[in-house]
Amino acid sequence: MTVHFPFQNSYSALPDSFFARVAPTPVAAPRLIKLNRPLAVQLGLDPDGLEPPEGAEILAGKTVPAGADPIAMAYAGHQFGQFVPQLGDGRAVLLGEVIDKDGIRRDIQLKGSGPTPFSRRGDGRAALGPVLREYIVSEAMFALGIPTTRSLAAAVTGEHVIRETALPGAVLTRVASSHIRVGTFQFFAVRRDTDAIRRLADHVIARHYPELLGAERPYHALLGGVVARQADLVARWLLVGFIHGVMNTDNSSISGETIDYGPCAFMDAYNPSQVFSSIDEMGRYAYANQPRIALWNLTRLAECLLPLFSEDQEKAVAKAQDILGAFSDTFSDGYQAGLRKKIGLFTERDGDNALIQDLLDAMAKNQADFTLTFRKLGDAAGDPAADDARAQFMDPAAFDEWARRWHERTALEPQTAAERQAAMHAVNPMFIPRNHRVEAVIQAAVNDDDYTPFEEFVKVLAKPFEGQPDYAAYADPPLPEQRVLQTFCGT
Ligand code: AMP
Ligand code: MG
Repeated sequence: MTVHFPFQNSYSALPDSFFARVAPTPVAAPRLIKLNRPLAVQLGLDPDGLEPPEGAEILAGKTVPAGADPIAMAYAGHQFGQFVPQLGDGRAVLLGEVIDKDGIRRDIQLKGSGPTPFSRRGDGRAALGPVLREYIVSEAMFALGIPTTRSLAAAVTGEHVIRETALPGAVLTRVASSHIRVGTFQFFAVRRDTDAIRRLADHVIARHYPELLGAERPYHALLGGVVARQADLVARWLLVGFIHGVMNTDNSSISGETIDYGPCAFMDAYNPSQVFSSIDEMGRYAYANQPRIALWNLTRLAECLLPLFSEDQEKAVAKAQDILGAFSDTFSDGYQAGLRKKIGLFTERDGDNALIQDLLDAMAKNQADFTLTFRKLGDAAGDPAADDARAQFMDPAAFDEWARRWHERTALEPQTAAERQAAMHAVNPMFIPRNHRVEAVIQAAVNDDDYTPFEEFVKVLAKPFEGQPDYAAYADPPLPEQRVLQTFCGT
C-alpha cells in the first residue's frame, strides 16, 4: 500500500530566490522509533501507511512521497546579536504542505535529512538526542496549549553523526503552520530585494493573517499581528517556566509558534535569571530576558518591512515604532492575566500585581519549584490544610505570610473552594518535561537502544493537567545529584 500525502504546495511556487530544490539524502537503515498517530490523522494522513517499512523510509528521508516538492528554505538571521546574511535550511527539507482537518495549511519538514546548498560546513544531519528532545518538548508544549511546531515522527538513520563523539543519527518530521521566520524577511532585506519582501509579506498575510487581507494598511497590520502573537507567545512561555535558549531571529516564527527546540529547558526552582544553554554565556536568552529579546527580534522584522511602509523613511520609522510600542502592553496584559489565573483569581483588583510579585519574589528567594508551587497552591485553594505549596519554600514562614494575604484576597470572590481549585488545576500543570527526565530518556535511547522511558514520558506529558497518580514521580523536581544545569544544541 502506498501512503498518500495530499500535498498542496504553495511556498515552492514562490520565486526561485526563496529556496533551493533539494531532495533528502537517502540513509542506510532507517528505523521508525515514534509515529504520532493522532497528529497523522489530524493532517489527513493514513497512520497505518506511515508505519514500517514504507512509512519509515519516507520519515527517515530514504524515499520521497509522490506529490512532494522538496526544498530547503532560504533565510538569514541574527545569531546572539550577530547578523549572518545567509543561513537557510542546512539540515532540513520541506517535503510540502497539506491542509489539516481544521483547514489549516501545515508544512511537513524533515529535519536531519542531509546536506543542502545552505549547509555551509555542516553535515546536514541531526543526532538522536536532540531529535528526541525536540519531540518530547514540542509535544509537551502542544499539550500545555502553547502555540508550537509539532512532531509527527522520529526515525533513526542507521548511520552515525560525528559530534564530539560518534552518535546515532536521526530524522525528526516536524510540522509547522509554516517555517517562515523573521530571518526569512532579513534574507531579502539585506539583498535590498523589496519585491521579494512584498511577495513574502503577501504570502504570510494570506496564510497566517487572513483577517488582515482587507486592511487599509496590510503591511502595518502584518507587523502589528506578528507583534501581538509573539508577545502572547512569550507571556505563555514565562507562565510555564519555559526557556527557549536560542531566540535568534532565524528561530523566531512569523506565525507565532514556538520553533527550533535546541538547548531549551523548563526551569525547576524559580529563578528569573536562569540560563540552560551551554552556548548562552552572556545570559542573553535567560528566562526573564525573553520578552525583551522578542521585541528586539520584532524590531529587526520591522526594519525589513520599512520599504513597504512608506517612501518617506522618517514616516516609515515612526509608524514602525508606533506598532512596536504595543508589544509591552500586550505582553504585560497576557502575563499578568495568566498569573492571576495561576493564583486562582477570577477578577482583577488593585494590588493583585503586587500580591503576585511578592509570591514570585518569595519563590526566588526560597528556591521554590515553579511548577509545583502553583500546582500545589491549587490544592491549598481547595483545602487550606494542604501544605505542599508551603513545603516548596526553604523558609516555609515566607509562604505563610503571603498565603494569609492570598486567602484574604480570594475570600472577596464568590467562587467555592472546589471551583477555585478546578480552575487553578486547569492552568497549572502537574507535569512538564523536566530536564533531568529528558536527559534520562535520551540516555536510555542513545546508550541502550531502550525507548520504553521515552514512550512513557511522552504519554504522561500528553495530559499535563491531570493528576495521573501512577506517574507522580514524573512531577518531582530533580534531586541535587540529578540536576541538569546545561543543555546543548548538539548540532
Ligand atoms: P539552529 O541552531 O538549529 O537554529 O541552526 C542554525 C543554522 O545552522 C541553520 O541555518 C541550520 O540549518 C544550520 N545547521 C545547524 N546544524 C546543521 C548541520 N548539522 N548541518 C548543516 N547545517 C546545520
Ligand atoms: Mg534554527
